[in-house]
Amino acid sequence: MFQDLDVRYDNAFRRAAPEAADTALLFREDAVLARSADGRLGLPGFGALPERLRARPWRYAFSLGAARFFLADAADAAPELPGFAWVPSREYRGMGPKEAVFAAAVGESLHRWYGANRFCGRCGAPMADSETERARVCPACGLTVYPKICPAVIVAVTNGDRLLLTKYQGRAFKRYALVAGFNEIGESIEDTVRREVLEETGLRVKGLRFYKSQPWVFTDSLLMGFYCALDGSDRIKLQETELSEASWYPRAEIPGDYSSISLTGEMIERFRRGEQ
Ligand SMILES: [Zn+2]
Repeated sequence: MFQDLDVRYDNAFRRAAPEAADTALLFREDAVLARSADGRLGLPGFGALPERLRARPWRYAFSLGAARFFLADAADAAPELPGFAWVPSREYRGMGPKEAVFAAAVGESLHRWYGANRFCGRCGAPMADSETERARVCPACGLTVYPKICPAVIVAVTNGDRLLLTKYQGRAFKRYALVAGFNEIGESIEDTVRREVLEETGLRVKGLRFYKSQPWVFTDSLLMGFYCALDGSDRIKLQETELSEASWYPRAEIPGDYSSISLTGEMIERFRRGEQ
């Protein structure tokens, strides 16, 4: 999956200044400054940046193994680095190497969070970085804001040898998917599973088994994958505002072209191979 790396992701909070050998994460909206060729993403070294970019306010973001990554906003700049361009996440998420893709996507999520918390949501004063943790603090009213991560479920509903596959309504993503949805305030994650399956397909489920989680940083969410069994009637009543299709697929008829980066893809593939 997307987050399965060969090096350790270390996101412990630190205050540090970038050095020439560090990697620069520069963003403009949802695009990262990178070299992209032959399906490979290359992030710039801090030392290669022009002086006017090195002089920006930089934040230490995280490390991958021995490599340190630093973050800066470049919305108002047009960095002319030969060979580099703004690469949107929808383009780079399918590229390699996986460490560079992971760094760009995690950096983009942090960048989005910093950009959305420049001012206090309670009193409107400009916020500042905490000195001790990854948080934004309001000097006027004391509000502390941590990175926003939205819990969501991915649900593989099985009925003997059949799996429920869906297609989203009105989205660019056209492959088959699983039932999915966000947790609501006051709800356990198990209740989210039952509610989303019922809302989207009219089906009831039992025997929930947690499989794995995935930090889906592209949408600031933490996905929790569950397998569960159909409970009662297998008759589907489609929620047409959310889904264009939901159907039962026998194991042998499930197509095998799922993305290797997503939890959804891995869960479908495990069922197809008879491992669930
Ligand atoms: Zn405030």
